[in-house]
Amino acid sequence: MAGTRKTVSAPTDYLSGLFLYIFQQCDKIKQLDKLEFDEVKNYMDGNTTIKYLQKYIKEKDYHPELLKDYFLKLSEEVGELSRAMRKGLKAQNSTDILGTVDEELWDVIYYALAIANIYDIDIEQVAKVKSEMNESRYPSKVKFEEGR
Ligand code: MG
Repeated sequence: MAGTRKTVSAPTDYLSGLFLYIFQQCDKIKQLDKLEFDEVKNYMDGNTTIKYLQKYIKEKDYHPELLKDYFLKLSEEVGELSRAMRKGLKAQNSTDILGTVDEELWDVIYYALAIANIYDIDIEQVAKVKSEMNESRYPSKVKFEEGR
């Protein structure tokens, strides 16, 4: 059509558009982070049992042929735990755990349970029996309760 011109954005329009785009992307990332955090929070409802953890690790990571490697990893993780403790690296919140006592404790538990799986040991049952053994040697007001 005669007399119409294509509008060319001024540099300031381009910059403000770019900033708007960046802010929108940042907002989306924040929403995604919040969504993932909420999903984790909802999933970890305080009722996770040692039986579930053992089953989870068995489904995820069960290689009897690597038993010695699991033990070496357990030893390695104990070393990492020692380092984190010596440096006083306690996580400041529930998500930033890299290299902290928090992370290394879980790593130790993970490989201990992986080894239990290869030996087909029910750690929940062991905890019950061991608590009874300790009760006879070291009586306590605190009793081991099953199904909790
Ligand atoms: Mg570790």
